[in-house]
Amino acid sequence: MNILILGGGGREHALAWAALQNPKCDKLIVAPGNAGIAGIATCAPVDPCDAAAVLSLCEEEALELVIIGPEAPLAAGVADRLRDAGLAVFGPSAAGARLEASKAFTKEVCDACGAPTARWARFTDAAAARAHIRAAGAPIVVKADGLAAGKGVVVAETVAAAERAVEEMFAGAHGAAGAEVVVEEVLTGEEASFFVLVDGTDVLPLGTAQDHKRIGEGDTGPNTGGMGAYSPAPVMTPEVEARALEEIVRPIVAEMARRGTPYSGILYAGLMIDAGRPRLVEINARFGDPEAQVLMLRLGAQALDLMHAVAEGRLAGCRVNWSDDHAMTVVMAAAGYPGAYTKGEAIGGLDDLPEDSFHQCFHAGTAQAGGEIVSAGGRVLNLTARGATLEEAAARAYAMVRAVDWAGGVWRADIGWRALGGGGA
Ligand code: ATP
Repeated sequence: MNILILGGGGREHALAWAALQNPKCDKLIVAPGNAGIAGIATCAPVDPCDAAAVLSLCEEEALELVIIGPEAPLAAGVADRLRDAGLAVFGPSAAGARLEASKAFTKEVCDACGAPTARWARFTDAAAARAHIRAAGAPIVVKADGLAAGKGVVVAETVAAAERAVEEMFAGAHGAAGAEVVVEEVLTGEEASFFVLVDGTDVLPLGTAQDHKRIGEGDTGPNTGGMGAYSPAPVMTPEVEARALEEIVRPIVAEMARRGTPYSGILYAGLMIDAGRPRLVEINARFGDPEAQVLMLRLGAQALDLMHAVAEGRLAGCRVNWSDDHAMTVVMAAAGYPGAYTKGEAIGGLDDLPEDSFHQCFHAGTAQAGGEIVSAGGRVLNLTARGATLEEAAARAYAMVRAVDWAGGVWRADIGWRALGGGGA
């Protein structure tokens, strides 16, 4: 099978690696890819959001299956255009991707199908939002409705902070994403990510993970795209997973089908678990980055068969063969990230890293310059390892981090602290 993966981060490197483990993968192109992906697949300089250019690439290269990594092409309807042209596509339609692209839409869907989530209200003008906040009191959560790259959510400790967030959003801090604002109650508990394959009607739980959003150890400092992740998430016990599937995922999938917009792809449910009770915080319409890195290392070759089955609407009867393993990924970022940072720093030691089904160095923001790998983004490398225990996976991942020769690289030494009982590696 000839495959195209859209995207160019650590998530897409992991998807590409998993696809290549499967003998059914005859040809693999990644658009646009990155310096690490170029080491294992062909990279094509095509914008993933440009449906016409993606379609031409598919025709020229006789590509059969397209796996869409990031949310932007999904929200832009690239999956719809490709499907209309007869291609097998892993990723939801634009109508399905609204579950990520509009928080108010997701809340409406939850209310329509009874899925448990925070109580909420939506506003298109600041005065009404402020009045609601003053009546409800703090703490309270203020969200820009649309996609804001993880920066459109303020968990406000005071009424004043919540009102400020409302003012900023309506003043255009997040552009069009903030034209509508959702205000909701604060949920307490432990967060976990639940990944479920959906082919319109059937669902298949794929796995669980926990990520680390803050830049600093002990979950301090500003939010990032994610500084590390591990899988499985211990808080997602079989009982919690069953409740999340029956009370949240299945009702939402059924409601989307009822509306005439069946959801197909990965449904990534961000959950808050309190005393064994899961509630929905958010839905993403694609794999998480860096959660995909740990899931792909654990799944290996079967990931491609499962994504292909979703794309062809034949998920019924599929199963996931889990080995009883654990995986961790540690993100190395450029010093200064998520603020201003330097690019173009040479990174050494990569050729000597172990590379097998237990160890992979997935690249995010890297580039080739003069025969060297250099940093080219905020999050740069994902050192990812698997083991019989999370401790073993952590020891392997951190041994890889220490073997990377990059003076300007920073990382968190405490990835997995919740599951490991508070200690870093
Ligand atoms: P963006 O739209 O900016 O990309 P996002 O999709 O990451 O943001 P959410 O996942 O809804 O936005 O929220 C980000 C984080 O804020 C969550 O992971 C969670 O930690 C916190 N959060 C969001 N809603 C709530 C809530 N109701 N109660 C407590 N914490 C919340």
